[in-house]
Amino acid sequence: MVTKNEIFGALAKEGLGENDIGGLHITDFGQVQFTIEVDPDKGSELEPLRQRAEQAVNKIPGVTRTMAILTSQKKAPDLTAKMPDPHGMNKNPKLNNLPIKHIIAVASGKGGVGKSTVAVNLAYALSQSGLSVGLLDADIYGPSVPMMVGLKLEKPPVEEGQLIPFEKNGLKVMSIGFLVDNQQALIWRGPMVQTALYQMLRDVKWAEEDAPLDVLVIDMPPGTGDAQLTLAQKVPVTGAVIVSTPQDIALIDARKAIEMFDKTDVPVLGLIENMSTHICSNCGHEEHIFGHGGAEKTAKELGIDFIGNIPLDITIRQNSDAGEIADQTLFAQISQKILDKIKKD
Ligand code: ADP
Repeated sequence: MVTKNEIFGALAKEGLGENDIGGLHITDFGQVQFTIEVDPDKGSELEPLRQRAEQAVNKIPGVTRTMAILTSQKKAPDLTAKMPDPHGMNKNPKLNNLPIKHIIAVASGKGGVGKSTVAVNLAYALSQSGLSVGLLDADIYGPSVPMMVGLKLEKPPVEEGQLIPFEKNGLKVMSIGFLVDNQQALIWRGPMVQTALYQMLRDVKWAEEDAPLDVLVIDMPPGTGDAQLTLAQKVPVTGAVIVSTPQDIALIDARKAIEMFDKTDVPVLGLIENMSTHICSNCGHEEHIFGHGGAEKTAKELGIDFIGNIPLDITIRQNSDAGEIADQTLFAQISQKILDKIKKD
């Protein structure tokens, strides 16, 4: 078993004292995670430091894998304004050689609108249409994909330095929830989000080079911050799908998400209205609990495609909670629209 002292000893040789290191976590299988407290103004020196720290710890006998994440007490700057690079991310090459043909980011301006539900069902529907599909749960603030697809929060296996995604119902699944200790109260700051997302794309064996994945669906963290920026800067994203409820307030947030992707030149494939109509399971009466048609109107105003409505349906929630696949008729239509759009662009 690897000890904390061995790790601190290795990091000391890289100029990192115990006070610079936080959240040190060693699993039974020799996986090591820790954060390095940094000054974001140091810019380009940070990523090489992070890599050196990982390499140093990796050399300790018994360590199978190391994940070092940069953290900063300082507030991250407004990244949407002018795309600065305070965390040295530009030192990371753009991930152009991933074995993935298309990356679709599922995003929302705020949490709780059904973004993960859409991401999971979109991935199922794409997979059922015969494509090879991966699902990356990058929602650090509430990684719900493992539960929704019926996977336990276990550490994924590691082969030749790469994390092997779990396979469930035909999907390859990776979640930040598998990597971060559930009990650990983690405060995610800008650089951590960026590094974690970058690593989950680079360090996961999504496919063999000669048989790439057709589509990777990413369940993004809600909001318009660092993760979106990383994606735009570092990953060749085919496009983003924005999920919103029909309420005005959620739509205001959706507009922000759309603007964010526009600013960073990530194509917006379209808007999905979730929790659109409620059909009473007893009497069949149709009710618009959160209003109706707001997303379609917003899409029109913003000149983006409206992909479809998903009703508020108790079976969708029950299936999510039970980790089972929901009825795919509706999602098949939605995924087909998205595929048509990708082929057209
Ligand atoms: P987000 O990812 O935006 O935070 P989730 O996908 O986790 O949202 O959804 C939040 C909750 O709402 C979950 O319990 C989910 O099962 C439920 N939910 C999402 N969409 C629907 C829907 N169309 N009908 C019924 N329940 C839904």
